[in-house]
Amino acid sequence: MGSIAVCPGSFDPVTLGHLDIITRGSKVFDKVIVSVLHNRNKQPLFTIEERIELLKQTTKEIPNVEVDHFNGLLIDYVKKKKANAIIKGLRAVSDFEYELQMASINRKLDEDVETFFMMTNNNYSYLSSSIVKELAKYHASVNDLVPEIVEEALRKKYAFSN
Ligand code: ADP
Repeated sequence: MGSIAVCPGSFDPVTLGHLDIITRGSKVFDKVIVSVLHNRNKQPLFTIEERIELLKQTTKEIPNVEVDHFNGLLIDYVKKKKANAIIKGLRAVSDFEYELQMASINRKLDEDVETFFMMTNNNYSYLSSSIVKELAKYHASVNDLVPEIVEEALRKKYAFSN
């Protein structure tokens, strides 16, 4: 059996920081399933369909990356996809506590699924989807933070606001 990793997140929208983690992960695992979480607690800017489409467009050059979405518990989804690993990116110490808690609970739920953490590329350590949205909302440049089609999509979203 090949190694299959799930890379979960909100991806609202996908940034160069996410793509860096996805690309590096795709070199280590046979297949990476990037999966958009239906997060009921957050009010997203982009719909699930829009987020999936942007991810598909921006990962289309990487043959072993697949884009999907899920609802409910991550560990149930991972098992359903017959994956054996979860990939997460770590940006700062502030990510650590929450991620440790998630990795621990997921191991308790299924000890055969391992969580792998990748340190952020230094260029993107400050980068999050929230920061990108905040900048785009006020029409500041997000040029070197997201791929061009995401920049375009943000421009359209915020074109009639403010
Ligand atoms: P965000 O916090 O940007 O809303 P998501 O929930 O979409 O992020 O994150 C999905 C995954 O990508 C998480 O594991 C997160 O830690 C990781 N990630 C997000 N941005 C970066 C970045 N700039 N560098 C490394 N990892 C990142």
